[in-house]
Amino acid sequence: MTGTVVVVGSANVDLVVDVPRHPGPGETILGGNLRRTPGGKGANQAVAAARAGGADTWFLGALGRDEAADLLLASLTGAGVHTDLVARSAEATGTALIWVTDDGENAIIVAPGANSEVSVDAVAARRLAVADVVLAQLEIPLETVVAAARARRDGARLVLNAAPSRDLPAQLWAEVDILVVNEHEARDLAGRDGSPAQLATALLERVPAVVVTLGGDGALVAERGSEHQSVTAPRVTAVDTTGAGDTFCGVLAAALADGASLAGAARLAAAAGALAVTRPGAQDAVPTATETAHLAREHA
Ligand code: ATP
Repeated sequence: MTGTVVVVGSANVDLVVDVPRHPGPGETILGGNLRRTPGGKGANQAVAAARAGGADTWFLGALGRDEAADLLLASLTGAGVHTDLVARSAEATGTALIWVTDDGENAIIVAPGANSEVSVDAVAARRLAVADVVLAQLEIPLETVVAAARARRDGARLVLNAAPSRDLPAQLWAEVDILVVNEHEARDLAGRDGSPAQLATALLERVPAVVVTLGGDGALVAERGSEHQSVTAPRVTAVDTTGAGDTFCGVLAAALADGASLAGAARLAAAAGALAVTRPGAQDAVPTATETAHLAREHA
C-alpha cells in the first residue's frame, strides 16, 4: 500500500424486502423475507477503497450503539477499513428501508439517525491532514464535508461524489478537485440538459476534473486542458446494480492515492463497478483487488 484515503460519509443498515408491487396509501401488503445488509454510501465506498488494495483506508462516520452498528463495524473491519474515526452516537444507526418489486424497481426511505452527527473532531482532522485522497458524498451534513475538505493537506485531493443530488454551497465547490456524478446528478449540478460530454464541459467551469458514470456505458473522464476520455465498461450480466456507483468511487479514490492517473483510476473503477453489478448487495458485492485487476486486464 502506498497511499492513504479517508472516506467521510454515511453508514446505514439496509433493510430489504421483496414485494409483489408498491403498496398504495394506507395499504398493508405481505412481502418476502427481510434481508439486513450493511450499506450507506460512505461505508460502501470505504469498503470498496480498502478492498481495492492500493491504499490504507479510514472511515470517518457515526454509528449508534445498536446491533446495526455491530453489523457495519464487522463489514468495515472485515474489508480492512480502519474504524478508529467512527463516532458512536445516542441516535440509532442510519437505516434504509428498501422494498423491491418483482420487476426490480425499488423504493427507498432513509432514516439518517447517527449520520446527521458526523463531524470533524481533532483526531479526525489529524488523520485528514495526512491523507492523499479525501472521498466524500452528500448523505451527511454539508458543513462536515466542507470541514473535512479544509482539514486536508495541500496537494491532497478532494473527490466528491455528489450523491444524492443536492445544491452545493460555494464553499464546497471551491474545495472540489474531482467531481464524480452519474448523468442525473450531472444534469442537476450543471442546471441544464445535454450529452454527458456537454454536461462535463459545463461542470469543468466550476471544478478541475469531472467523472460522469454512465452505467453499462462506462464513464467519461474530463479534465481542464485535456480532451475528454471515454472509459468503456466491461460487458457483464447485471443481477443487482445496487452499489455500482459506490464501488466505482471507492476504487477510483484508492487508485488515485496509489498514484494512478485519473483515466487509469477510472478504468480500474469501471472494472470493479462491472463486477459489483454481477452480485447482489452493496458492500457484499464489492470485488477484491485481484478480481478487479483481472477483469481490467482482460477488458484492455
Ligand atoms: P448506483 O446509484 O446504482 O450505485 P450510479 O448511478 O451512481 O449507481 P452507475 O453509472 O450506474 O452509477 O455505475 C457506476 C459504474 O459502474 C459505471 O460507470 C460502470 O463503470 C459500472 N457499471 C454500472 N452498471 C454496469 C453494467 N450494467 N455493466 C457494466 N458496468 C457497469
